[in-house]
Amino acid sequence: MANLKLSHIYKVYENGHKAVNDFSIDIADREFIVFVGPSGCGKSTTLRMVAGLETITAGDLFIGDTLVNDMEPKDRDIAMVFQSYALYPHMTVYENMAFGLRNRKMPEEEIKQRVLKAAKMLDIEEYLDRKPKAMSGGQRQRVALGRALVRDPKVFLLDEPLSNLDAKLRAQMRTEITELHKNLKTTFIYVTHDQVEAMTMGTRIVVMKLGYVQQIDTPMNLYNEPYNKFVAGFIGSPQMNFFDVKLKREGDDVDVIFANGDKVTIPYEKVSKIHEKYLNGDTTVTFGIRPEHLSVNKEGKGLEFVVTNVERLGNETIIYGKVGDKVEEFTMKDEGRNIVLKVIDREDINVGDIAYAEPNPSKVHFFDAETEVTLMTKIPEYNTIHAVHDGDYMDVLGHRVELPETYKGALADAHDFELGLPPAAIVPGKDFSLKVAKTEKVDDKNLAYLVNGDKYLFALVSDDVKEGDDYQFDILNEKVNLSADGKELLKAIGDQESFMGRFSKTEKKENGERVLHFFYDIGDYTIEAAPEHGYKINSIDGDNCYKYTYRYAVDRKNIRFAGEGEEGLKGEVLEILDYGNVRFAKIKANGEEILVNVDKGFDAKEVKLAFDAKDVSVYSTRIDMMIC
Ligand code: ADP
Repeated sequence: MANLKLSHIYKVYENGHKAVNDFSIDIADREFIVFVGPSGCGKSTTLRMVAGLETITAGDLFIGDTLVNDMEPKDRDIAMVFQSYALYPHMTVYENMAFGLRNRKMPEEEIKQRVLKAAKMLDIEEYLDRKPKAMSGGQRQRVALGRALVRDPKVFLLDEPLSNLDAKLRAQMRTEITELHKNLKTTFIYVTHDQVEAMTMGTRIVVMKLGYVQQIDTPMNLYNEPYNKFVAGFIGSPQMNFFDVKLKREGDDVDVIFANGDKVTIPYEKVSKIHEKYLNGDTTVTFGIRPEHLSVNKEGKGLEFVVTNVERLGNETIIYGKVGDKVEEFTMKDEGRNIVLKVIDREDINVGDIAYAEPNPSKVHFFDAETEVTLMTKIPEYNTIHAVHDGDYMDVLGHRVELPETYKGALADAHDFELGLPPAAIVPGKDFSLKVAKTEKVDDKNLAYLVNGDKYLFALVSDDVKEGDDYQFDILNEKVNLSADGKELLKAIGDQESFMGRFSKTEKKENGERVLHFFYDIGDYTIEAAPEHGYKINSIDGDNCYKYTYRYAVDRKNIRFAGEGEEGLKGEVLEILDYGNVRFAKIKANGEEILVNVDKGFDAKEVKLAFDAKDVSVYSTRIDMMIC
């Protein structure tokens, strides 16, 4: 039994290929985690790093509480099952299963007990004297599982174990492996390119693409709330349909307008998390709808298509069609014209018919046409609220409030403007008050829908806030983006600053021993790195690390002014940014401009900045990668 933690794991192969990027996950004891994605996306590489068969370029891997990056595979207490079975052909099944235990010098009697127990679990007791070549693929894979099982490992790793089996056997083995996981009460990590395997077996699934994690979630969350178009298309069969559409809000409804002019209408309530900038009828977005969430009619309701194929499977019918032939000047791309519907048997739908598809409004998905990210994230990224600037005041959300100095400077003559306000920047307070229309649990957070005219303002609130409440709040001014006429006037302030710098070491004799000390060098400012971080940088970049430039990132809250006699990074104060609730000094240091929190009345011109090495995150600038 064990939990695992992968923290910012990267793999860069010797030829420079970046196979895995910034892979992080906490795996609880007894979870069944599946890595899924198309061939080459980095699934096996990640699994092999967990197994210790591949070195980890950067990041930390914990099994239980132990950092195992440099631990030999045999000491990690994990067992791996491969697609190829990897059985010894000259040994019997018994010998194959006993082999690893004999290598560990386990007493024969105990080996026998373990092999018999595993053989019973896997239903291969009667084959123990056979050699692998006299067995079927499914039986061989059971032996491979048995060989892992006898070791009683903390973690099971399975790399496409069923790929060599035929469809029927695969389905059967899926169930058996799931059962095995239940009985063993052990952590499983399972790699597959098959989304059906992933969906049926995993307690959580990691979807990967081109070396990057796309989404980590339960099977049903992946199906219902895919983070992007890739995940939406990868999970589910037949695949989700995608169409280019424009969205136009009309009061309580939103029109979904297809490229051929057809239109369907969905209630605004179903898509209220979509930012209003996508609802103006001008912006092309990608509409996604699963085949099982479309209904078919012949009465002209919805998206028109020509039926090109009908598969009657008994319990359901799959209808294939092409959209849009009715419009002469049709310009849709060919693949954008395909449509698939999965319906309960409809005998009246036949090839060549003109039919219409209507989406279930509760099951629609929309994605940004460029980034392909969902427009319906569980917590909207930001709210846009309109405001009017008038002298030293602004009218916003039905209140007149004093403008912070920094806003005055940024707004200048702008009269009407917009605040881009992330939900986390709305905090309990007294400046504003809005009615709570409803609340929704998102993971461990409470998301409130505050009524702001005909739309919602989304805020993260404490658990005791309920529907019908008047919620009183303030705005964290420094977390707001200001814009007017689509032009950004003031950017929200992030939580981190970073400095470019070098890395160095010195060697000292201490108590007759040579001891290495490592340093982050930012201009003239030098701080000693923790030895383990120093060794890590050195092991990743070799001795070139002393020639490379690194980016040292520090949370602003950890940057302070150096005390009397303390070393620091010299900086020149350029100006003070006053946001009303907080103030920042803009400081030029080491050729860069950074912000540091200051108190009211702060008026120094020259400062020395200091921070602790333990608060520094180090990034490689050579390959975009977090090192420690
Ligand atoms: P998957 O298991 O998802 O099919 P892999 O983890 O096997 O993908 O491979 C991820 C990427 O890394 C692929 O592009 C593959 O070609 C590349 N790769 C795998 N092994 C090596 C290697 N030893 N050297 C260089 N590139 C490799």
